Amino acid sequence: MTEATDQPPSALRLLGRGITRRCAWCGDRRNYFLGWFKRQETCRACGHGYRRGDHAFELGAITANIILTFGSILVTLGVWIALTAPDVPLIPIMVVTAAIGLAGPALFYPISFTLWQAIDLIMRPPTASELAGEGDATL
Ligand SMILES: [Zn+2]
Repeated sequence: MTEATDQPPSALRLLGRGITRRCAWCGDRRNYFLGWFKRQETCRACGHGYRRGDHAFELGAITANIILTFGSILVTLGVWIALTAPDVPLIPIMVVTAAIGLAGPALFYPISFTLWQAIDLIMRPPTASELAGEGDATL
């Protein structure tokens, strides 16, 4: 469900929407993804351009992807070791964490974009001209 875009959402709401693969600005689930990897420049519901004039947006999304992937590996290692210590099964842990390391970037691909969209909106709140739909960074 989308809501009016005249009032910026709170930082917590932006992050919640981003981590659940929704448009951080309007909360729409379709957002700008046409498939798991294919995306368009603007949100299909609110028209928010996720780049907002930043041509290096993907660097932030890649960073978010790396943090999500390594965070998953770290949590898996921590929980597994805590549950099995002192007899830690080394080979199964290595196989599972390697699988997460290989599959994580693909699994977290769309989430990393929507999460970075949320972080970008928190770090660079939309200007009045963006809200008015001027330039290439329309909201
Ligand atoms: Zn949207």
